[in-house]
Amino acid sequence: MAEFENNVAFIGLGAMGYAMAKNIRQKMSPTGNLYIFDVFRTACERFYHEMQVTGPVIIVGSPREAAEFADTVISIVPGADDVRQVYLDAVTGIIAARRNPERVLLECSTIDSKSTQAVGEALLVGKLGTYVDTPVSGGVPGAESGTLSFLIGHGKPSDTNSVSHRLHKVASMMGDPKKFFYCGGLGAGLAAKISNNYLSCSILLAVAEAMAIGTRLGVDEKLLHEVIHHSTGQNFMADNVQPVPGVVTHAPSSNNYRLGFKTQMMIKDLGLGVQAGYATGITPTIAEAALRVYEKAAVDPRCIDRDGSSVYLHITNPTRKSPE
Ligand code: NAD
Repeated sequence: MAEFENNVAFIGLGAMGYAMAKNIRQKMSPTGNLYIFDVFRTACERFYHEMQVTGPVIIVGSPREAAEFADTVISIVPGADDVRQVYLDAVTGIIAARRNPERVLLECSTIDSKSTQAVGEALLVGKLGTYVDTPVSGGVPGAESGTLSFLIGHGKPSDTNSVSHRLHKVASMMGDPKKFFYCGGLGAGLAAKISNNYLSCSILLAVAEAMAIGTRLGVDEKLLHEVIHHSTGQNFMADNVQPVPGVVTHAPSSNNYRLGFKTQMMIKDLGLGVQAGYATGITPTIAEAALRVYEKAAVDPRCIDRDGSSVYLHITNPTRKSPE
């Protein structure tokens, strides 16, 4: 195994990161070191106790320390402010680590392209390594099974470009190479991700509303889903993130709206879509309308910290505020 796969740092052990880091620990050399950091210390301790049997796991005190030891850094945290804190904080950030132009940093969070470009350029100027936006798709199930899609802000792998080769190898420990998309330069992976999430978040709300309407008109909910599945309304969200409980057994709704993708995160991702729409001269009519609904759902106790498909509970009874 190459040296860069033996010294890896993972930052952000949340719903996605925990499962992604598990795959890294299982697939890297059993003697290689995995350095972990999360502001929520309990997540690091849980990971340490669960995974140290697989190989060395070292909890570090800051992203700077994590990068200090590692040739490869992977991060996945909620938003752009968190990414800036991880990378650019003058004391605890990766920018304060030892210079190492050979270091490769895969940043998997969903944030805006401009922020990622600013972070990547600052690291390059400081000779901290090559930072690439590598947002992921496939949700927690994809993270757990190691079958995530990667949308990569870099050119395709080639024999003459060692960074792309390394990106491909590291991403392969967490994802399915058939679903790796090399989108171009820094920020291009996020541009693709934001476009995709514009659709997936909007479609989820459309599914919730359509299911609510059809069932109120008297159609059985399972039958309605079957009809949609075999008709022109068929879509991934209805089949896998179906908001009506009991219709699709593997959907979060059938498991008490287990995460998933938090309702509050829907606001972030639709907000990114709206922002990108105006920045490119496209009026984001659908995302704006959906954003207004999710903003209300995100303060509804039935939806907070639950999967975003819980928006169904909000739209079917918008005034009721007690937890389900
Ligand atoms: P999460 O809230 O479950 O996890 C984020 C983790 O980052 C938490 O453990 C938190 O303590 C940690 N964190 C926050 N700030 C930090 C900092 N400054 N330094 C270190 N750790 C910090 O979120 P998630 O669902 O895992 O999502 C993470 C990112 O991945 C988001 O940008 C999200 O949009 C994206 N994403 C999520 C999904 C999904 O289905 N959940 C799918 C694709 C992409």
